[in-house]
Amino acid sequence: MVSRNKGFENLTAGYLFPEVAKRRKAYQEKHPEAKIISLGIGNTTEPLTSHITKAMVDYAAGLGTEAGYSGYGDEQGLTELRERIASVLYKGMASADEVFISDGAKCDIARIQTLFGPDVEIAVQDPAYPVYVDGSVIVGAAGKDDGKGGRKGVTYLPCTAENGFFPDLSKVKENSLIYFCSPNNPTGVASSREQLKKLVDCALEKGCIIIFDSAYFSFIRDSSLPKTIYEIEGARKCAIEINSFSKLAGFTGVRLGWSVVPSDLKYADGSSVKQDWNRVMTTLFNGASNIAQRGGLAALDEEGMKETKSLVDYYLGNAALMKKALSGQNFASAGVKVYYTGDSPYLWVMFPGYKSWDIFDKILDECKIVTTPGSGFGPAGEGYLRFSSFGHRRDVEEACARLSALKL
Ligand SMILES: *Cc1c(COP(=O)(O)O)cnc(C)c1O
Repeated sequence: MVSRNKGFENLTAGYLFPEVAKRRKAYQEKHPEAKIISLGIGNTTEPLTSHITKAMVDYAAGLGTEAGYSGYGDEQGLTELRERIASVLYKGMASADEVFISDGAKCDIARIQTLFGPDVEIAVQDPAYPVYVDGSVIVGAAGKDDGKGGRKGVTYLPCTAENGFFPDLSKVKENSLIYFCSPNNPTGVASSREQLKKLVDCALEKGCIIIFDSAYFSFIRDSSLPKTIYEIEGARKCAIEINSFSKLAGFTGVRLGWSVVPSDLKYADGSSVKQDWNRVMTTLFNGASNIAQRGGLAALDEEGMKETKSLVDYYLGNAALMKKALSGQNFASAGVKVYYTGDSPYLWVMFPGYKSWDIFDKILDECKIVTTPGSGFGPAGEGYLRFSSFGHRRDVEEACARLSALKL
């Protein structure tokens, strides 16, 4: 018999979203008349915009003609799209040959682990997007959950209200991979230039590589905040950036993302990380959908950028309504703290005296609203709920009215 990859034994059962779904279903069965609203999802809800849709429709129609048909393209992506990402989004901070087009950020995070193998040390924000640790467990770089919030091979970096949701980097071990997400899922915090400078300096000093996930960069509205790690001096020597059209243009279902691996980035032996990444992308991947890439090109022209800005503004408008409701007298007098600066789709909300699952149940029961328990993203998320602004405005307005009537 063939043995199982040991990494799978070390995985913790996917608990958070299945458990949220289970409790929602149980509530609905008990209360069939209840109109449940979800403020729990990390999935986009609004339709694709017209200019971007048209680009994909026209290209798809062309595929049905001899003149317009194309088969495999370059595995690294359309040259024109790589160039547009480099010029529009990186403005000289990265070149087109350092941009690799993919089927999404999650898929890139998974593939990136093949570059470093099972012996690499991991450092990760706590709380964090679960893929960083789970992916590391599958490849063997992270061990079993020790039941005390730890895992062999992983250094957790707590991000709490006390440290302004930016970790103490003195805990990072030498030669680690540091997974860092800004604006962050789930805390919604976008790190400042000074903070990211500390992160880059730490990586350079300790010989680390940063995997910088900036999937929510398009939500940043404070112009003083960096939108890419390459705005920080020295980052080209120590950081890979992972990014996506999912939250930028509503491409969660269309599937399109990109990574940036600078030519300056080297392994301990001095060899080029980019060269291996090119090998991974040409061997384990066969190029992003040509239709999706036409949509990506349209998203980054003048008309497309206007559309994506208004799409993201819509969700930010939802978030502003939720911030107002969650800052109401009923919440304030119970000591509830809303952490939200207006630069991400997520509000991170602390309920003193409650465990995350207890306040989740209370809000489901009394408001018929689904949220996401902060503890599901890591031990430092205990006591918090994540509220997502992905939703239709009418549902968000109704949810806000219900929250304003909640007694805590
Ligand atoms: C949604 C999200 C992504 C995007 O993933 P895709 O695979 O591109 O859809 C990446 N990172 C984080 C933290 C996310 O929340």
